[in-house]
Amino acid sequence: MSKLGAVIQDLVVSNRILANQEVVDAYGHVSVRHPDNPNRFLIARSLAPELVGPDDIVELDLDGQPVREERRSLYLERFIHAAIFAARPEVMAVVHAHAEDTLPFGIAQGTKLRAVIHSGSFIGAEVPVWDIAERFGDTNLLVTNMAQAKDLAKCLGGASVALMRGHGFAAAARSLIEVVRLSVYLPRNARALIRARQLGGEIKYLSQGEIDARNRGYSPYSVETWRAWEYWANKAGCGRLLTRPDAGHDDAPKD
Ligand SMILES: [Zn+2]
Repeated sequence: MSKLGAVIQDLVVSNRILANQEVVDAYGHVSVRHPDNPNRFLIARSLAPELVGPDDIVELDLDGQPVREERRSLYLERFIHAAIFAARPEVMAVVHAHAEDTLPFGIAQGTKLRAVIHSGSFIGAEVPVWDIAERFGDTNLLVTNMAQAKDLAKCLGGASVALMRGHGFAAAARSLIEVVRLSVYLPRNARALIRARQLGGEIKYLSQGEIDARNRGYSPYSVETWRAWEYWANKAGCGRLLTRPDAGHDDAPKD
């Protein structure tokens, strides 16, 4: 399989996993930077992620516009991906979703979303919150143009995830596996924090040292990471679509 073919296959798998893990439903999307052209990215046409197949993947530029004539509808919020890829050259994959457990932290002013469980370490020490109303006033809360998306990317800065007030989150990572992992564990970390607060008392967050130690030990194609990817893909009914790391990735595991 070609490198592009393998990346498209991984993108399809990512769509199915995020749907199966209930990070996305009818809405929400995942994208990957084009393996041969850093000024383009791949994302599904406007379709529920659970239903996405290889033929549904379209190629967009960093203004969120299709590079070929496209008659099918595109995601209204595709600009989120374009702006993050444009602002962050090291980012290879982006997710935007409305996962319910993350929403309270974009609304309540009193509690920041911070890492409290080991698998939540990849969200970083603290998650910034972007409020579309600050610059754009009363909107329908959707990110429907590049100006709004660039403002969101600015709030994200160098972080791996930003919450969007009353809407959802945007996550960015160096690979599809990483951004899927981050997006699956973000709501779980949020849920654990909400429940811990209900129990009362002081909250023990992961320290910066613990977060650093977790990140140092992480490799996107290690045996441990592949184990989760394989598990999620099989659970989502698309284990047969998996491409082994050596099929299309330059950074295939050495372990
Ligand atoms: Zn949205």
